[in-house]
Amino acid sequence: MDLDATDSAILHCLQDDGRASLRAIAKKIGVSVPTVSSRLKNLEQLGIVRGYRVLLDPDRLEATGVALVVKTKPRTADDVAQRLAARDWARRILLGRPGWILVDVSLAHREDLDLILAEVTSMPDVAGVQEYVGLRTLKDEPPILPRDRLRANVPCFECRGPILGEPVKARLDGRYHYFCCHTCERLYLEKYRRIRAAARKRT
Ligand SMILES: [Zn+2]
Repeated sequence: MDLDATDSAILHCLQDDGRASLRAIAKKIGVSVPTVSSRLKNLEQLGIVRGYRVLLDPDRLEATGVALVVKTKPRTADDVAQRLAARDWARRILLGRPGWILVDVSLAHREDLDLILAEVTSMPDVAGVQEYVGLRTLKDEPPILPRDRLRANVPCFECRGPILGEPVKARLDGRYHYFCCHTCERLYLEKYRRIRAAARKRT
């Protein structure tokens, strides 16, 4: 679904500065502080904002960056990727064309690479591993938000189907709910009201 201009602007502000205050964001994009606060809480609940981390310079901390290209049988790539994802040293994993996995590795000690290569090579279904050791980091940015208006993968709260374009939004108990169409919105709201009414009757 398409995120609206306010949500997109908040994400762009935070991508520039993860410590920006709610007040600073509100001022920059021209909305109220409570709006930023509720929108941000909502983006967190949707799992679009996963957290706030510090950006470290790997060179200054003498960490070694390594890219691994792992080759598997096409049908086993997901399983292998899950196994790789469980390892602390794997910082980012991209599944490419069937059977190819790209793994960004960060090492505190260069010598650890041999152990990691041995470990990956001995994983079930791994057909081969190529490594590329970085000697210097020229650019290291978190995944970017490429467009002004962002799209998010959020299923309809009623039918769980995809939401194409602008969602139908309803705010219930301070939380946004998203729907693919007005029919789904109506069905959901009817259910929601029935449940609320039943809960009220019990108390
Ligand atoms: Zn729907």
